Amino acid sequence: MTEPLNGFTGFGRRDPGFVSASQAMRQAETEARMAQSDPLGSARRATEARAASAQALSQATADLGRGVNPWGNPTARSGALRFARDDAGEGRPSFDPDKLASIPPVDRRWSWVEVDLNAIRHNATAVKKRLAPGTRLMAVVKADAYGHGAVQCARTALNSGAEYLGVATVDEAIQLREALINAPILILAEPPVTAIPLLLGYKVMPTVYTAEFAIQYAEAADAFGLRAPFHLKVNTGMNRIGVRHDEVVPFMHQVGFHRALELVGTFTHFATADCAETLDFQIQVKRFIEAVNALRGAGIDPGIIHAANSAAAIRYPDVQFDMVRLGIGLYGFHPCPETYPLIDLRPAMSVKARITDTRLVPMSEGVSYGLHYRSPGSVKICTLPIGYADGLRRNLSGRVRFLLGGASVRQVGNICMDQCMFEVDLRTYGLRERIDPQVGDEVVIVGSSGDASVTVEDLCDLLDTIPHEVTIGFGCSRMPRLYV
Ligand SMILES: *Cc1c(COP(=O)(O)O)cnc(C)c1O
Repeated sequence: MTEPLNGFTGFGRRDPGFVSASQAMRQAETEARMAQSDPLGSARRATEARAASAQALSQATADLGRGVNPWGNPTARSGALRFARDDAGEGRPSFDPDKLASIPPVDRRWSWVEVDLNAIRHNATAVKKRLAPGTRLMAVVKADAYGHGAVQCARTALNSGAEYLGVATVDEAIQLREALINAPILILAEPPVTAIPLLLGYKVMPTVYTAEFAIQYAEAADAFGLRAPFHLKVNTGMNRIGVRHDEVVPFMHQVGFHRALELVGTFTHFATADCAETLDFQIQVKRFIEAVNALRGAGIDPGIIHAANSAAAIRYPDVQFDMVRLGIGLYGFHPCPETYPLIDLRPAMSVKARITDTRLVPMSEGVSYGLHYRSPGSVKICTLPIGYADGLRRNLSGRVRFLLGGASVRQVGNICMDQCMFEVDLRTYGLRERIDPQVGDEVVIVGSSGDASVTVEDLCDLLDTIPHEVTIGFGCSRMPRLYV
């Protein structure tokens, strides 16, 4: 089987005026480069380039199917400013949209997420080193790369040994293509049949496990002279999605007659790769190997065989097969205690904020909703612009510590939707240096400062959850991301 770069062969039928997605992307790339070499007006040019590529791409998509414009209205931003210009009469200043747009997100609100792309690079390389030569690495960048930014993380992973990208939704895949990423992309579940034109237009591979989808996908591809590459999902015990492990051969016989269909990969997903117990895991491995062997026995090439998520990829070299799907490990978090001695991972995310207000609260006065915290006196109460709408879960109220200039301070009072408070003891004990925080001082919510650190794992312990949920909570919130 010859394997094209993104898993697809052939292009669509070319009617007059047809603009292929790749043509439109090349155009957008050129325009983006031009915009970069001219920093003045680059925001406007980028908007224009985006609008032009959106138009060309939506034309290409319309040619394939329903003509849905997946970008909404790219010029909405300048439209919203019109009133400011209209109102700017004699002697009044007018607003330059470029200048407004150039105010950095961290100067608009004092809370942000920092993502260390060197850590992502380190983690991808560390996992890649554990793989047998020729075993592929899939970077799982769903949910905006677990809150770390899908496009930036995908690019970094692809430059660090990853060859494949995994996402959860069609729109996540389109976002990567729109950023001119050309690596093979697998959607890790079967999309609705109504999304099939988007798969073909953007060259994105679906996971398949129903005959209805397989046949509609194949027929749509055939109508445009395209191939219909896919990965077959096998349910070996997780019981979420997939063709039952002992029904893969009949399934492939049911759909395999279609000439456009191309089985590019066969995979399963483990329910207990991160659990101490290994019997259920071994049962899934056995069922998966039997299913793959049954396909081969029936003369069907299963393509790229893959099963391992981060936990399995790190713990069980035997199940690396042809590819591993690295999610949480890519972002530097251990999927379970068992992986700590096996690999050195570096967390890529930290969360920071600046103090927006401070006050001395007299003894016995309360702080925040419910006034559950009462001042012991001699404390400065500092306010941060980060709350549960930013991923700082309300459940952590009064239970977390933040870092300020290397010192650890106690969050107090209920965490609000947009803000929270912490307490600084103004008394000096023995050799301890007194800290007196001011508005504008930087505070670490997650990360390190001096010798002290607050980790995502610390928050997981308090919340009884896994790092995935915590990083997505911060990273997929309204806080801006800063790449360092
Ligand atoms: C999310 C996902 C992964 C990645 O899992 P991690 O535990 O984050 O490594 C792998 N495979 C599938 C099918 C997934 O949905």
